[in-house]
This record gives sequence, structure tokens and C-alpha cells, in this order.
Amino acid sequence: MSQQVLIYDTTLRDGMQGEGMSLSVEEKLRVAHALDNLGFHFIEAGFLGSNPKDAELFELLERETFQADMVAFGMTRRRDSAAQDDPALRALADSYAPVCCLVGKTWKLHLEKVTKVDPDENLAMIADSVGFLATQGKRVVYDAEHFFDSYRDDPEYAVRCHRAAAEAGAEWVTLCDTNGATLPGAIAAATEHVVGQLAGGPRIGIHTHDDSGCGVANSLVAVDAGAQMVQGTVNGHGERCGNANLTTIVPALQLKLGYECIPAERLAGLTDAAHLVDEICNVSPNPNQPYVGRNAFAHKGGMHVAGITRDARTFEHVDPAAVGADRRLLISELSGKGTVQARAKQTGVPLEDGEATRVVERVKELESRGFQFEAADGSFDLLIRRETGGYEPLFRLESWRVIAEKREDGRVKTEATIKIWMDGERYLRSAEGNGPVNALDRALRSAIGDVYPHLRDIELVNYKVRILDERKGTGAVTRVLLDASDGVDTWGSIGVSENIIEASWEALVDSLEAGMLPRRSHHTRRGAGEPATRQ
Ligand SMILES: [Zn+2]
Repeated sequence: MSQQVLIYDTTLRDGMQGEGMSLSVEEKLRVAHALDNLGFHFIEAGFLGSNPKDAELFELLERETFQADMVAFGMTRRRDSAAQDDPALRALADSYAPVCCLVGKTWKLHLEKVTKVDPDENLAMIADSVGFLATQGKRVVYDAEHFFDSYRDDPEYAVRCHRAAAEAGAEWVTLCDTNGATLPGAIAAATEHVVGQLAGGPRIGIHTHDDSGCGVANSLVAVDAGAQMVQGTVNGHGERCGNANLTTIVPALQLKLGYECIPAERLAGLTDAAHLVDEICNVSPNPNQPYVGRNAFAHKGGMHVAGITRDARTFEHVDPAAVGADRRLLISELSGKGTVQARAKQTGVPLEDGEATRVVERVKELESRGFQFEAADGSFDLLIRRETGGYEPLFRLESWRVIAEKREDGRVKTEATIKIWMDGERYLRSAEGNGPVNALDRALRSAIGDVYPHLRDIELVNYKVRILDERKGTGAVTRVLLDASDGVDTWGSIGVSENIIEASWEALVDSLEAGMLPRRSHHTRRGAGEPATRQ
């Protein structure tokens, strides 16, 4: 039987230290359900006693059902008070969470320069705090902060800190690379040493940060050295360079190293869960993220695509379906008929040889004018339909107009008016926006959202502009790339014109029309807790 490694998620606590990360209590609850759906074993929900928001979250969590063990996070007791008199430890003892995680100092540099606590007193603080929670019936995870820095300076003292927690009743002790300073060789050696020293006692966890670019690698080598629990965050969110990325670690442990972390059917929900968490956190997903990024299984160029079609192992390190990802075949001048046919089949429009040849010719012609379909899969899906007669526009344009006005007080106001026809009726709408594209987008949606409610779920998540021939100055061609999302799928669209607003309009219309294609329009916004459906 393969060995089990438990997954301990700290997205809601350590992950919230990341730049721009701030979630309401309700949003945190949604994230907790997403993590629970993945089958993670521990969910560290918050720093109890640090703020009223986290206390409120624990009250909400208590009312709902989770398979994961909820963890309340806190610190070892203050230097000058007994553990049972420390209000923060009392809050942990009183919380409903069955598991408490305590962080304590390990590194003498910190004791000397930061907390000014004597090393022996620090050991007593660890033992008292862990002991108090254990006698209150809590399962205790002890996180040794800066463990690896301490181990480098004074391995004996680092291990004594762990032993203090172990003897006081900790179920787990976690080795933390809090500054992210350590490289894999040192992590492996120290972990192996501690596992030997504490044999027969608590089990060992690993908590790493990515400051050296080794957060994932360090977690993996620690597991190979005997750690049985990995702490990290979804998508690697966290302060500075981020925490160890569970979204990368879990498939690596499970698909490559043969450890058992979460059930295979849960792993197949990884891509959706990773995107959902980013969406709730209002962060653009990193397209190049391993396993779950938009480009993780994107193939470009005839030889790659031909290889993939013959045997996916030629150019893929794992089966994308194992992590719930879609294979993407990128369309560019480099690609031939085979790529176009494979891509068309994926989107539900199988092409005859002759049709595929026509599409390839059309792609070449458009690319010579500045189009580029690699990142514009939505526009490409529409192009296939335009070439094969399966395309129906959402509306007929009569006209649009944008006015940008700068006032004496320095403010710039933008207003757009559109006139369009749908089902024989004329719609005239105006909207204000923070810029011309935003104003056009709002006017267009206000008109067609009534007829196609699904479009209200579609958001523009990215807007990129590139000037294609800068030698011509203002006469240059502008390429606009838009990414849109309905909360489940993300797709790209493109517009090219000498006029930036016209290019944006083209991309905007494509993004909405592509969102209405059958494989997308069945999506409705998924609530937390519901299983992912993909096609
Ligand atoms: Zn941390």
C-alpha cells in the first residue's frame, strides 16, 4: 500500500498575507468549501484571537459540515503569563475547532533580536502552551518557526524545541522554512535528522516558502525524508514570493512519487478549484502555473500537435485529465490542417479536409494583418463557424459612438452610445465608463443582457493592447486581446484595427459571442460546494 501524506491548507491564514489578498467572511467560507471538496485533510481557517473577522468565521464554520479537520491558529503563550491565563490560548481552547496549530520561536537570532526571550524560557513557553491545549482535548500541531535557520545555527537547540512540543503532547510537529532561505539538500538532511530524533513520537510536517524558488521542491524532498504532512496554499498564495504551492505539490506527490494524498476523483477537480479560489480572491490565474495553468497543456506547432495526436506522452508529462485540465491546441501560422481539425473537433465542430484547408488559409491571411489566435481561442472558435456556415451573430450593429470629455477640474468622462438590432427590435443604449472600452462594454451588455441572461455571468478579466508596427507611429495597427471568464471557463478574443476603440469593440463582441457558444452557455455560475462540471 502506498504511504499517505496529509495535506494541510493554510490559504485562509498564511495565504492571506499575500499582496492584495483580502476576503470577506463569506468568501472565506466559499474557499473553505472548495478546499474541502478537494479532499484536503486540514483547513487552517484563521488566526483566532488576532481579529474579530476570524472569530466570526469560526462561528459560521461550526454551523456547516466539512470532512476536513478545521484548524484554529495561534501563538505560544506570552513570556509573562501562564498558558491558561493567556487570552489568545483561551480563545483557541474555547473554539469548536478540533485541531489547534501553535507557532513558536526556534531560532536564537529571533529570541535575541526580536522577542528578547531566554532560550530556556522559550522551551517552557512551547511546552506550557502545547500542554495546555492538549489537556483541553485539542489535537495540537506545533509549527516551529524558522526551524531550518535555527537548525543551521544550532541544530541541537532546534531539535530541543521540537522535543519540548512532542513531550507536551503535540500530535504533529512542523518544520518551517519561514524565510524561504533553505535549499532542497539542507531541507532533506534536516528533516531526516528530526524524523530519526523524534521516532515513536509525533509525526512530522513541512511548511515552506518560495523565496528561493524551491517551495515545491523543498516540500517534496521533505516528504521523501519522512515528513507525512505538507502545509501550503492553493496557487502558492502568500507573502513575498508565496507559500509552497499545494496545487503543484499534490499532483507531484500523487502522480509522480506514488504517495496517496487525495482521492483520484478529487484530484480531477484541481484545475477548477484552483481557478475558483483565484476568482474568489480576485486574482488573475497565472497562465503558466504547472498542472492547472491555462498553458500547462497547450501545444503549438505542427510537430508537437502531430505527436500529441499519435500519443499524448510524446509531449505531456502527465495526463491533463488527472488534474482536470483541458489540452489546448494553439492555433498559429505554424500549425497546419491537422491542428485546426483537432482544435475544431474539441470545440464540437468536426471539419472536412476542404473546410480545414479553408480555415488554415483564412488564419494565414488574418495573421498577416496582425491577428494572432494562440491566445484568442474564443475568436478562433467563431472563425471556424464563420467558415463553415455555423455562425450566427448575436445582434446586428447599426452604429456605436464614444465621447471622451476632459473637464476643467481635470476629470475625464467617457460615454458610449450603441444602436443594435436583435430579433427585429432596435435597442438604443448609453452608458458611462472609466474609459471608452468600459463604456462600450456596459452599453452593449445592458442591451443584450436582457435577451441573453448568461452574458451577465461573463466578466472581462484581462485587457491587453499592443501596437504592431511602431515605425508608422499613430498610423500603426493596434491589436487588442481580451480574456473573458464565466467563472468556470476562460477564453480569449482578439481585435485588430488602426483604431484602438474599433479593435477593442471587435474583441469585445467576439468575447461575448464566444461565451454564447454551446459548450459555454450551459454554464451557470457555480456556488461553493457544488461539484465541477466540465466538458
Ligand atoms: Zn508561513
